[in-house]
Amino acid sequence: MDIPRIFNITESAHRIHNPITPEKLATLGAALRLEPGARVLDLGSGSGEMLCTWARDHGIIGTGIDMSRLFTEQAKLRSEELGVADQVKFIHGDATGYVSDEEVDVAGCVGATWIAGGVAGTIELLARSLRAGGIILIGEPFWRKLPPAEDIAKGCLANSISDFRLLPELLASFGHLGYDVVEMVLADQDGWDRYEAAKWLTMRRWLDANPGEEFAKDVRAQLTSEPVRYATFTREYLGWGVFALMPR
Ligand code: SAH
Repeated sequence: MDIPRIFNITESAHRIHNPITPEKLATLGAALRLEPGARVLDLGSGSGEMLCTWARDHGIIGTGIDMSRLFTEQAKLRSEELGVADQVKFIHGDATGYVSDEEVDVAGCVGATWIAGGVAGTIELLARSLRAGGIILIGEPFWRKLPPAEDIAKGCLANSISDFRLLPELLASFGHLGYDVVEMVLADQDGWDRYEAAKWLTMRRWLDANPGEEFAKDVRAQLTSEPVRYATFTREYLGWGVFALMPR
């Protein structure tokens, strides 16, 4: 079981697989006022940077589940590097339908809401692991500017304009699902650059190291087209944020 190979290549050097920066991840951890010993569940935990740094900075206890074998391995190494391996556990697996044995204080899915078929389904899934009074975290894109045509949404690698909402509408949608939005930390274009542009050097290095690989054609095509595609579409039109929610 694993995610498509292209992501394990392009994001192999990422600690954070999203446009949020280390500084903003720290801001979010502080904003949530985490208590030592708080339990945090992270579906689609990637390379574990959120749980590992929050374990170090706030003394949380965390469990992460991720379908990438590579990212999960990197998360374990990171927990050792930060001296928090006894506080955080990383499971390689499919997070679809995952509910924790013990109720958690914070249940999150940061940039992987397809795991439960979108934002609403993911909130519903996370709520099944959450203690009364706990916080749900959702990391999700939104439109900074509404694309004037469907081909612009496609340029942002969305299926259609309807995949995402404008920020006020996304916030309103949480209300319609019965949740208060109690905090948010938004990414900016510099954060997008860290997420997207970091893939380009990784791809170039991978190509130089793997000249004979059949898969090199795919990676080469992406490296050639990605900078212009990203600057034309994603960087202009797509926002991203992490939203903290509590049931009303
Ligand atoms: N939350 C992390 C990773 C976000 S990228 C961060 O912010 O850094 C999305 C992650 O979802 C990837 O790590 C990918 O491997 C993982 N993923 C995709 N489908 C999944 C599934 N069905 N179950 C668990 N993880 C999944």
